[in-house]
Amino acid sequence: MEFLEKTVIVTGAGSGMGQAIAEKFASKGAAVVCADIDVDAATETAEKIKLDDGLSLPLEIDVSSENDVKTMIDRTVAEFGSLDVLHNNAGIPQEATPVEDVSETEWDQIISVNLKSAFLGVKYAVPHLRDGGGVVLNTASTAAIRPRTGLSAYVASKGGMVTLTKQLAYELAPSIRVNAICPVATDTPMLSKFAGEDLSVAGMQDTIPLGRLAEPSDIAAAATFLASDDAEMITGTALEVDGGRDI
Ligand code: ADP
Repeated sequence: MEFLEKTVIVTGAGSGMGQAIAEKFASKGAAVVCADIDVDAATETAEKIKLDDGLSLPLEIDVSSENDVKTMIDRTVAEFGSLDVLHNNAGIPQEATPVEDVSETEWDQIISVNLKSAFLGVKYAVPHLRDGGGVVLNTASTAAIRPRTGLSAYVASKGGMVTLTKQLAYELAPSIRVNAICPVATDTPMLSKFAGEDLSVAGMQDTIPLGRLAEPSDIAAAATFLASDDAEMITGTALEVDGGRDI
């Protein structure tokens, strides 16, 4: 119960990694705010946590909206009295598209949801995180460091997430630690949206030396470790949860 009396916000908590991360923090005693643009999904995760005798609050927010993010932080502190961990996890995929065919609208949307969201979250969370020595986690991707066919906006958004993580770790030390997680292909509803003619899910799995996709629970385990006191000397890192994928 290492997160007892701690409050954790997880964005994108309605599905996939976010759901697993929210449930894992709750299983370790945290009160968890389950934030998602899909309020039914967020509510489902929050209800599951309550059924297991945990504390949770579902919130409907669009992480790319400054107003929504501010409301998320305000409501969290009003409900639970503090904020200890902010996990900027919500994200959207990109359909593989040659760069010359990517629309400005799609580019802006992917950068807003996958990258601007972390800036907004930190902007409003920092005054509260400073109170108790808080932690920020950002979900990036192995695509932050290794290019992918047709994913210019997605790769740029995730690369930006890693660089922003390092900047914030530097800027917010010593009171707040900031780390990123870079998952390899993970078995969530998003994964099939990346698969295309050039790359099947089985093909992705074949590139992973440990022989399987990542599971949401693998990412949740990394999140609770990086947020724990065991990681008290770790900040500004991008932890690859990649099964040894080296290309
Ligand atoms: P993964 O877990 O692989 O990242 P999922 O698609 O399973 O992928 O989960 C992503 C979550 O992020 C979904 O629950 C989705 O509703 C949420 N999400 C997507 N866009 C936004 C947004 N703009 N604001 C808040 N949540 C979002």
